[in-house]
Amino acid sequence: MTAYGAHADKNLKRGAQNSLLSRREFLAAATLLALSAATSGCKTAYTEAKEPIIDIHQHLGYSGRTDDVFLAHQSKMGITKTVLLPAGRSVNTASTHEGFSNGLQAKCLGNQDCYSFAKAHRKEYLFGANEVPDLNDAVKEIEKYLKLGAVVIGEQKFGVECDSPEMQRIYELAAHYRVPVLMHWQYKMYNYGFDRFYKMLEKYPKTRFIGHAQTWWANIDKNNVDDEVKLYPKGKVTPGGITDRYLSDYPNMFGDLSAGSGLNALTRDEDHARDFLERHQDKLIYGSDCNDLLGTVPGCQGAKTIETVRRLAPSKKIERKLLCGNAKRVFRI
Ligand SMILES: [Zn+2]
Ligand SMILES: [Zn+2]
Repeated sequence: MTAYGAHADKNLKRGAQNSLLSRREFLAAATLLALSAATSGCKTAYTEAKEPIIDIHQHLGYSGRTDDVFLAHQSKMGITKTVLLPAGRSVNTASTHEGFSNGLQAKCLGNQDCYSFAKAHRKEYLFGANEVPDLNDAVKEIEKYLKLGAVVIGEQKFGVECDSPEMQRIYELAAHYRVPVLMHWQYKMYNYGFDRFYKMLEKYPKTRFIGHAQTWWANIDKNNVDDEVKLYPKGKVTPGGITDRYLSDYPNMFGDLSAGSGLNALTRDEDHARDFLERHQDKLIYGSDCNDLLGTVPGCQGAKTIETVRRLAPSKKIERKLLCGNAKRVFRI
């Protein structure tokens, strides 16, 4: 409960116990309490200094960043809750491009480290579960951490077909444990077959999928032509791209605003972005995926994305959904 709610709660009790409050005051206090409950912790209480912001996309040891710098970074960005996404184990397989993509191609740490860190910082950190999907015991390893309380499977960033039997086992597991699967889409590199992914969205209606990265964001544009080199297209966006349609047509598809790709999608055409945020206000979720050291604007991509969401969100209510409410609902946190 927020401090605002606690205040109302105290008034209610006093009113009930001592009958010191008039009926009108009592009803006003009850209304305040109901209001604060309805916003489920995403609205800033006037007594709270920090407006809650959930970052659904961070990594431990990211590009070699130390834990102290990481903690300070999240705090400076104003993050109140962070989800740590582990890497899979380090192996030399086709799915890791013979080891090139180990550590999510950025030295990120794995399940045990994320779990331990989240346990040591319970109030502000949660953890995901992950594994290289085509290893024999991938499901067993992911399930181990789901049982320990992982809130998401991911980030899935491996060279595999999006509808391979291995990936389908992960989609089933996610539905069983009622956690989302977060996927990094990058043309000819990670999760192949974006244009036929609708078949998975239809086959696994109970699985919540979260799209992320270059190919996910390039395809907000109907005129996008996938290109493994030009991964950050600029300029005007024509609505109706594959990503736009997946978000519109499938209740189980969500979008992660993180990384340079998410920020680029908002800034390349701000008029389009305002409309996009309005149309998909219940589907888009803030994440930073930021390996910077500062946590402040200028110079820090994660902080810049928060600033951009605040500037372009059509209303305060929508901004709160993007920075907090949608994460709470989709991750059930
Ligand atoms: Zn990624
Ligand atoms: Zn990432």
